[in-house]
Amino acid sequence: MADQKQGFDTLQVHAGTEPDSATGARQVPIYQTTSFVFKDAEHAARLFNLEEVGYIYSRLTNPTVMALANRIAALEGGQGAVCCSSGHAAQIMALFPLMAPGRNVVASTRLYGGTLTQFSQTFKRFGWSAKFVDFDDLDAVRAAVDDDTRAIFCEAIANPGGVITDLDAIGEIAKKVGVPLIVDNTASTPYLCRPIEHGATLVVHSTTKYLTGNGTVTGGCVVDSGTFDWAASDKFPSLSQPEPAYHGKVFTEVFGPMAYTFHSIAVGLRDLGMTMNPQAAHYTLLGIETLSLRMARHVQNAREVANWLEGDARVEGVTYAGLPSSPYYDRMTRICPRGAGALFTVALKGGYEACVAAVGRMELFSHVANLGDTRSLVIHPASTTHRQLTEAEQARAGVAPNAIRLSIGIEDVNDLISDLDQALG
Ligand SMILES: *Cc1c(COP(=O)(O)O)cnc(C)c1O
Repeated sequence: MADQKQGFDTLQVHAGTEPDSATGARQVPIYQTTSFVFKDAEHAARLFNLEEVGYIYSRLTNPTVMALANRIAALEGGQGAVCCSSGHAAQIMALFPLMAPGRNVVASTRLYGGTLTQFSQTFKRFGWSAKFVDFDDLDAVRAAVDDDTRAIFCEAIANPGGVITDLDAIGEIAKKVGVPLIVDNTASTPYLCRPIEHGATLVVHSTTKYLTGNGTVTGGCVVDSGTFDWAASDKFPSLSQPEPAYHGKVFTEVFGPMAYTFHSIAVGLRDLGMTMNPQAAHYTLLGIETLSLRMARHVQNAREVANWLEGDARVEGVTYAGLPSSPYYDRMTRICPRGAGALFTVALKGGYEACVAAVGRMELFSHVANLGDTRSLVIHPASTTHRQLTEAEQARAGVAPNAIRLSIGIEDVNDLISDLDQALG
């Protein structure tokens, strides 16, 4: 069994798993079962009362999915984690124990396009709201927080421009106002950035991307640092006061630092059902074993491609924070010391038309609405992922009409540069 003091390369292979107790199987078996047999009626009652930890039904917990949750928790330096059916499910699950009608989230303007839509539109159906502010303007973040704010939300490496958020500064604000900072660590992964060390309470992932790494399954994860004092105020009654959805249990009293994780399983997964299936967990466990190797190559390739693009006459600008010319370069060395990831935008002098033409000519780069695959990917955000937004919202999100987003894969970098060279026309 791995412990959290081991190195990242060891944890990504071993954390959360040990040889199967029933068969000795070395790899984590896919426990393709919906339910688990109770020893007797008393055992069943203890499990349902959360007096004993065990498996009941796979909507709540499943050994393959738990192995993945525990591995991601170890890589992030968290106390517990819950896996979900997608990244977007993870975002709703992360907020569910914290929010209620009338409450709000203070969120960065620079987010994944689908997240902006989820927060600005679908939240309303729950009576929740999001206040979007520029997270480089710390006064604006402070000013946006009010008595109804229950979380602060941002991405470590932000979509689509690869901008690095100053998690230390935002974490300070969150601490001062007594609400959790939730960081979407999808584009950075725990190999490049460990948000909990910079003040995050919760870390969310779309495991669909780099953690799985090969574009096979959708999934998500919520990691809890276990460090937030939910009972310090009356803001989080689901955790710190008798929870009517679980016969009056006070989660902070019963579970201490695991209160949030247990609530997410016992109430969140039970009632929302956004569960990851064991087959998906299997693919993601396989992917995670090579996370550090892949990320190192992603970063190396991204740096070379961004450098080449920056020097090309057809290019107006490149947003990659790993370029010494980037205004985010210094911040990158503090927040993401192993590199700025592999996601950035490139603005073309030829404008919107040149972007559409270049995307059409690319051969090695696949034109898809995804990122974080071993394959290099391209998309034109203004006409696709961020199309739902108004022009002003696009500008605030860092989406220019003349910019394409690249997700640099782990192929031979010379082949990637050749493909871009011919595609730019
Ligand atoms: C893809 C993505 C999401 C949404 O995840 P899904 O697995 O597609 O639901 C959220 N945040 C970021 C940064 C993403 O890249």
